[in-house]
Amino acid sequence: MLALDDTIAAIATPPGQGGIAIVRVSGPAAARVGEGLLKSSSGAPPTLLPRHAVFCRAHSADGVVIDEVLAVYMPAPASYTREDVLEIQCHGGHASARAVLDAVLAQGADVRTAGPGEFTLRAFLRGRIDLVQAEAVADVINAETTGSLVIHEALLEGALSRTVVQWQERLREALMQIESYLDFAAEDDIPDFDTGFVQALLDEVADGMNDKIGSYAWGRTARDGLRVAIVGAPNVGKSSLLNRMAEEERAIVSATPGTTRDTIEVRINALGAPVHVIDTAGLRETVDEIEREGVDRARRAALGADLLLIVFDGGRELTSEELEETRKLAEIKEVLAIINKDDLGQIPRENLSGVSGVDIVTTCASEGRGITSLLEVIRDRAWAGESVTGSEPLTRLRHRETVENALASVERARTILGGTGYVDAAASELHLARGFLGELLGDGTPDEVLDGIFSEFCIGK
Ligand code: GDP
Repeated sequence: MLALDDTIAAIATPPGQGGIAIVRVSGPAAARVGEGLLKSSSGAPPTLLPRHAVFCRAHSADGVVIDEVLAVYMPAPASYTREDVLEIQCHGGHASARAVLDAVLAQGADVRTAGPGEFTLRAFLRGRIDLVQAEAVADVINAETTGSLVIHEALLEGALSRTVVQWQERLREALMQIESYLDFAAEDDIPDFDTGFVQALLDEVADGMNDKIGSYAWGRTARDGLRVAIVGAPNVGKSSLLNRMAEEERAIVSATPGTTRDTIEVRINALGAPVHVIDTAGLRETVDEIEREGVDRARRAALGADLLLIVFDGGRELTSEELEETRKLAEIKEVLAIINKDDLGQIPRENLSGVSGVDIVTTCASEGRGITSLLEVIRDRAWAGESVTGSEPLTRLRHRETVENALASVERARTILGGTGYVDAAASELHLARGFLGELLGDGTPDEVLDGIFSEFCIGK
């Protein structure tokens, strides 16, 4: 996977019909590929001026005109991969792009189909971007809401990478102090070791790392979405609420209790925040085997969610079973109570006052009332961690684990310097911490970790 000497090619646009499709070629043979399959109106290969769009025709290996195209040649190093890149824009649609790609691949044994994310892998291996930025490319592509997009664009632009480089720099300064002390330790007139200066550097780094680790809950939500499970007794309007939230008919709504027997997951955009809403089978005791499986799944979904929406029927009194279930769930999960069917004359809120700390939103799913307020509460919960640091959060588990490892080493170094004074042990810890930070940015990152990251990408990116 890590070979760089051949030339790779892929269709960079999604399959299906569209205005245009782009076939991307990167590597030493990019210009030769262009000359081999592109012809201007005179029949000669067009002059591919760097970074100019050139109108020409693409020909198949046996000379048949495939399509009218625009070709853009970007010689190294000013290209996405830092290699020679040729992008051919043809008409959208499966046949044209596929025929252009085939013609590209026919230009020599050194031209092959790119694997998932291989263009970005090359940009990383050639040092144009670091690993955090490469991951951000995938996350920008996958972003479903502007909130998520803005964070990942900042990561792509280098916001987290700069912080990590700053930490590495502080650790290097601390190490220089410690190591110059160790170098002279054998001599009589040892210069005083400025512990205070080193501790201040380490404090700064540890505080910064703690802040970033604290931002992960928010960052994870921004990347993966807040998991919200809708629970409640059958027929209270759970599916109707989901449909309103998703603004489309996705869940089956029925007047017969127990219709939603499986969990249904819908990804929604809650006023800019990515949210997975899981509609569950009604929570009730049942003898029907299939429904019982649904109820079990509902309980599991409830336990895995970040936030539970417990829905009540505003047209009737709460049952003691419902109150008890709510109390139990509120002890282990963050819960939002929804009194639906407010057109039928609202459950008095006092009924829920026995369950402490539960916010209440009133809705009418059948008429769409209260849905925006509900989405606002969910959005605020998704962005709840935002105020913690104010700067870009850690969005991936890999980031959090690597920063945690680095922090653990920094903490051990602080303890050593504050106590026993085995300064060389503190220095090894700081080298370790720098190693973890390097890994975060992709220095010495094992191939299997790289494989895992790039295999998430789509072909052509
Ligand atoms: P679920 O079993 O909890 O998922 O409930 P459904 O969404 O399937 O709804 C059950 C019944 O309640 C259906 O007949 C809906 O049309 C009705 N319903 C849902 N929301 C409201 C509401 O706000 N007001 C009224 N009057 N009926 C509603």
